[in-house]
Amino acid sequence: MTDTPKPLPPLTIVLAGPRGFCAGVDRAIQIVERALDKFGAPVYVRHEIVHNKFVVDGLRAKGAVFVEELDQVPDEAPVIFSAHGVPKRVPDEAGRRGLTYLDATCPLVSKVHTEAERHHEAGRQIILIGHANHPEVIGTMGQVPDGAMLLVEDLEQAEAVQPADPENLAFVTQTTLSVDETAAIVAVLRRRFPALQGPRKEDICYATTNRQAAVRAMAAGVDAVLVLGAPNSSNSRRLVEVAKGAGCDRSILVQRAADIDWTSLDGVARLGVTAGASAPEVLVEEVIEAARARFAVTLEHATLTEETITFKLPRALSA
Ligand code: SF4
Repeated sequence: MTDTPKPLPPLTIVLAGPRGFCAGVDRAIQIVERALDKFGAPVYVRHEIVHNKFVVDGLRAKGAVFVEELDQVPDEAPVIFSAHGVPKRVPDEAGRRGLTYLDATCPLVSKVHTEAERHHEAGRQIILIGHANHPEVIGTMGQVPDGAMLLVEDLEQAEAVQPADPENLAFVTQTTLSVDETAAIVAVLRRRFPALQGPRKEDICYATTNRQAAVRAMAAGVDAVLVLGAPNSSNSRRLVEVAKGAGCDRSILVQRAADIDWTSLDGVARLGVTAGASAPEVLVEEVIEAARARFAVTLEHATLTEETITFKLPRALSA
C-alpha cells in the first residue's frame, strides 16, 4: 500500500502593484542592450547599471563590463553611466579623454540635477536630503562645487544643520527615499528656515511613491511581506521599512527565491510580495514557483495604480 501524499498547506500570495521595474530602470537596461548591439562587446558600464545582481549578471553575460571609475575604461571602448547619475566631473573627464559615452541617468534624477544647478546659479546654498555614499547622492552633490551642498540624512541632522545664510537656502532630495520620513525632514527644515526654496513636497519619484503606497496598503492585510531587491537598492530597502511601519513586522528583503528561509514563514497564511524598482518580474515569478512546491498557492492582486510612464532612449540609440 502506498501512502497518499499529504495535501500541501494553503498559502495566499498577495502581489502588490505597482512593483518591480520603473521607467528609469527599464530605459537604463535598454541603453546597455542597444549599445551592445550597436558597438559590439565589450561595452563598459560605470557602476552597476541598476542595483540588481540578476540584471547585472545578465548584461555581463552579454558582454557588458562593470567598473567603478572611468580610469578602468580603455580609450577605445564605449562607456555608459548608470541610472543613478554621475558627478559632473565624470562626463567632463570622458569628454577630455575623447571616450564615446552614453548617459543612462534616469531623467527624474537629471531633473534634480537641473534644480540643484538652478539654485546654485541663483546663489543659494542647497540642502540635499539623502543617504551618504549612495551613488545618486554622490552624483547630485557633484553637480555643484564642493561646499555648495549640505547633506541631511535624518531628522536629527535636519535640526542641527547650519547653513551659511538661512535666507538664501534651497533643498533637493534623493529620488528613492521614504515619503513619510522625508516629509518629516522637510517640515523641520521649513520650520527652521522659513525662506527655504524647493519643490512643493520633495523630489521622490513616481515609482518610489507608488511602490511605497502599494506595499503600505497591502501590509496591514498580510502576515509577512517579501520584498525582492538588492541590499544596496535604496528603494527596495525603503519598501521593507514602509511595510514594517504599516504594521507587518515580518517584512524581509530577499534577492531571489533561493534566499528565502521558508521556515521563517511558518504560520503565514497570507504572504505579501513586492519588488523594488530595479528587480525584474522574473524574480517574483521564481518566488511564486518556489512557494507552489511547498504550498497550495492562491494568488491575489493588490494593485493600487497602473503605471504608463516610459522614457525615451538617448538619440544616438533610438533609431
Ligand atoms: Fe528613475 Fe525613480 Fe526608477 Fe530611480 S526609481 S530610476 S528615479 S523612476
